[in-house]
Amino acid sequence: MTVEIQAIGIDIGSTSTKLVGTNSAGEMIWQILEKTEPRIEEQVRRLLDQAWEMNDRLKDIPVIATGYGRKLAHQATRAITEITCHARGVYQELKHGGTLVDIGGQDSKVIRISPQGKVFDFVMNDKCAAGTGRFLENTANRLNVSLDDMGAIGMETSVEATISSTCTVFAESEIISLLANGVILPEILRGLHRSLIKRIVAMVHSVGFEAPLMLSGGVVQNPLIASMLGDELDTEVVLPRHPQLMGALGAALMALETS
Ligand code: ADP
Repeated sequence: MTVEIQAIGIDIGSTSTKLVGTNSAGEMIWQILEKTEPRIEEQVRRLLDQAWEMNDRLKDIPVIATGYGRKLAHQATRAITEITCHARGVYQELKHGGTLVDIGGQDSKVIRISPQGKVFDFVMNDKCAAGTGRFLENTANRLNVSLDDMGAIGMETSVEATISSTCTVFAESEIISLLANGVILPEILRGLHRSLIKRIVAMVHSVGFEAPLMLSGGVVQNPLIASMLGDELDTEVVLPRHPQLMGALGAALMALETS
């Protein structure tokens, strides 16, 4: 397997760091995903050492970094923005254009991709926790619900509590008040997801929606996110096999092209 790796992509996100290795056909054949550590430079060095220990030959293959910490990966041949890399990774997996929504731990982006895989237009939110994984994580911690279960619990009901704020801090106050008034957890979680989705849908409309809707980022592994986005935009939703690895895959593919 390691002999087949021809390029490596590193996506250093604010929440998680991903490494992907591709073969000469651009297929993902190796991956690592772990929480981003405060000392990013040391973490990248350790992860690349891990790859190089598998096979010394890997030291000679191209590496491209992306994500918010991309400039701290000094071993990388180049650093490329996550907009370009996500679009590249998703296009490789799905082979068509449309509108890509990427929801990460602390940012979200909407990218219009042409039928040929080029970035047409995009909008990004990295200033506010609303519309990002952080929005759900805060509540998960507060309510002692696992992040993996949040969407499934929200899907247990079709009744939705109204959470009018898209702001994390105000939404938390609303949740505390709903709980005090005896509203059940599934209804609260459904309302919370709706609040996040409204924020994302506003971003989608700001770049102009073009079907199909494609999703990437760690947060879209939550099934209620895909289901609500599809309903709100009245469209089919397409997910790649590894939504959280699309930025790293795109970076690896761009590294492959330079080799
Ligand atoms: P970034 O690149 O910004 O670090 P990612 O795309 O890696 O973000 O996504 C990280 C976020 O994904 C985490 O903050 C977490 O909220 C969310 N996440 C990860 N796994 C799951 C899961 N199984 N279900 C729901 N959310 C998840």
